[in-house]
Amino acid sequence: MDIKLIAYTPNPDRVCASAAFTSWKKLSTKELFEELSDKEAFDFLRMVLGFGHVSVAEHATFTFSIKGISRAASHQLVRHRIASYTQQSQRYIKFKKDEVECVIPKSIEKSRFGKEFREMVKKIAEFYERMSKEIPVEDSRYILPNATKTNIVVTMNARELLHFFGLRLCNRSQWEIRELAQRMLDEVKKVAPVLFENAGPRCKELGYCPEGKLSCGKMPTKEEVLRGVLRK
Ligand SMILES: Cc1cc2nc3c(=O)[nH]c(=O)nc-3n(C[C@H](O)[C@H](O)[C@H](O)COP(=O)(O)OP(=O)(O)OC[C@H]3O[C@@H](n4cnc5c(N)ncnc54)[C@H](O)[C@@H]3O)c2cc1C
Repeated sequence: MDIKLIAYTPNPDRVCASAAFTSWKKLSTKELFEELSDKEAFDFLRMVLGFGHVSVAEHATFTFSIKGISRAASHQLVRHRIASYTQQSQRYIKFKKDEVECVIPKSIEKSRFGKEFREMVKKIAEFYERMSKEIPVEDSRYILPNATKTNIVVTMNARELLHFFGLRLCNRSQWEIRELAQRMLDEVKKVAPVLFENAGPRCKELGYCPEGKLSCGKMPTKEEVLRGVLRK
C-alpha cells in the first residue's frame, strides 16, 4: 500500500490549541493563534485533550491518498462515518486482465495455497476481461475478489482520526486496516505531533482492554482492573 498525506489544515496543533483557548480567554481565536507561545498553546492543548474534551480536535482536517489496499480493507475503512471518501470506480474503469491486481495476505502467500491463489486470480481476471467485452463492466466486476486492489481518498478531522486509531490500531483489528491506520498515524504525527502524541489503541488511553474475553491479553481487561480495585 502507498499512503500519502496530501493536504491538511496548516499548523494543526496551533489551530486546535487556539480554538481550545478561545473558551478561556477574552482574545479572539486569531489573536490567540498569532500570540500564544508554543509552550502555552501546546501545554493547554495537551491538558484539554487529556480531559477528554476532544471536540477542539475537529478544527484540523487531514486528507490521505491511499493506493493499493484491498477492497476488503477499503470496506472496513468506509465504515468510519465521520469522514469524506472518494473511491476508484469499478463501473467507470474497465481494467485489462493484467491490470487486475490483488493484495495477497502473507498467511496465504506462505501457505501451500499461495500458487493456487495467484492462478485463481489470473483466471478470474481473464474471465472478467472476457465478460467485459460483451456485458457492462458494472456487472462483470461482480466476479472480482475482495482482494482486488483499490485507490481511495479520505478526509478526516483529528477527532475522528483519534477514534479511528483507537479502534484500528488494536491487535484485534484485521492486519491490513491496522497497517493502514499505522501508516496514516505515522503521516499525521509528522505535522501534528501534539494532537497525535497519545494516539494509539484504545487500551493505551483507557489503561485496560475494552474487548473483554476477546482481548489480545497485553492489557488487563476492565473486569480485571475493577476486581483489583475492589480487592484494595
Ligand atoms: C476489531 C473490530 C471488529 C469489527 N467487527 C465487525 C463485524 O464483525 N461486523 C461489522 O459490521 N462491523 C465490525 N466492525 C466495525 C465496527 O462495528 C464499526 O462499524 C466501525 O469500527 C466504525 O466505528 P464507529 O461506528 O465507532 O465509528 P465512526 O463511524 O467512525 O463514528 C465515530 C463516532 O461517531 C458517533 N456516531 C457516528 N455515527 C453515528 C450515528 N449514526 N448515531 C450515533 N452516533 C454516531 C459514534 O460515537 C461513533 O463512535 C469491527 C470493528 C473493529 C475495530
